[in-house]
Amino acid sequence: MQVEEGIHRLTQGVVNFYLIEEGGRLLLVDAGAPGDWDLLVRTVADLGRRLDDLEAVLLTHAHADHIGTAERARTTTGARVWVHQADAAMATEGTPPKNDGKVRSYLLRTEFYRTTFSLMRRGASRIIPVKEVATFADGETLDLPGRPRAVHAPGHTVGSAALLLEGRRVLLTGDVLATRNPLTGRVGPQIMPSGLNRDTPQALRSLAALDGVTADLLLPGHGEPWTEGTAEAVRLARAAGPS
Ligand SMILES: [Zn+2]
Repeated sequence: MQVEEGIHRLTQGVVNFYLIEEGGRLLLVDAGAPGDWDLLVRTVADLGRRLDDLEAVLLTHAHADHIGTAERARTTTGARVWVHQADAAMATEGTPPKNDGKVRSYLLRTEFYRTTFSLMRRGASRIIPVKEVATFADGETLDLPGRPRAVHAPGHTVGSAALLLEGRRVLLTGDVLATRNPLTGRVGPQIMPSGLNRDTPQALRSLAALDGVTADLLLPGHGEPWTEGTAEAVRLARAAGPS
C-alpha cells in the first residue's frame, strides 16, 4: 500500500515495514517478521522492480519483528543492512532483549494474544541474526534512497532510532513512537509498552529527540500512519505515558 509517493507500507498485521523507491533504487526500512518474506517479494514484483534493486535494509532497531527478513535480503540480494551502533550486537548475535516490564501483566488483554500468535506464526519469536551489519550514529545522514537522517532515541532498545526523510517531511518512527499498542490495543501516539522496552522512563525522555524534528507524516512500526505532525504526536505520547 502506497502511503506517500514512492513510500510503500508493508504489513500482515501487528508490525509495519516500509519500502522506499527513488530513481529505481529501493530501500527497505525495517524488515518485518521472517514470515513476511513473500510479502516483500510480491511487493517488489508489483512495483515492476527486481529484488536486486534493493540497495539496503535500514533498521530502526534490532527486535525480532523488525529484523525478520534482513539476513535473507542480505544474502539473496547483497543489500547492506544498517543499524544504530548500539543495537549492532543484538542484530549480529541475536541476543534476546532484557525488558523492564513483565509481559505477564498483559495476559488479560486480547490484544496480547493477537500480537503474540500473529508474530509466532511468522517466526518472530526469536531474532534471526544478521551476519554483517553497517552501523550509523545519531545525526548521521545516510547516502541511501530518501537520504534518511538518524535520530537516536534510546529506551525501547539502546539503539532505537527514528529516521527522517527530510526532503519529504516524513519521519519513520520505528518503535520510538507507535500509534497502536501491540499489547493493549490502545490506539493513538504513544511509546511502546513497558513489557517490550529496555528502559521505559528513558523511552519517554527520548521523545525530546523528536521535538525539533519537522515532519508531516509519521510512519510507525506499529499502527496506522499519523498525519498531524511530529509536535502533536509527541504531545499525545507524553500525555499517554507508560503502559
Ligand atoms: Zn521493537
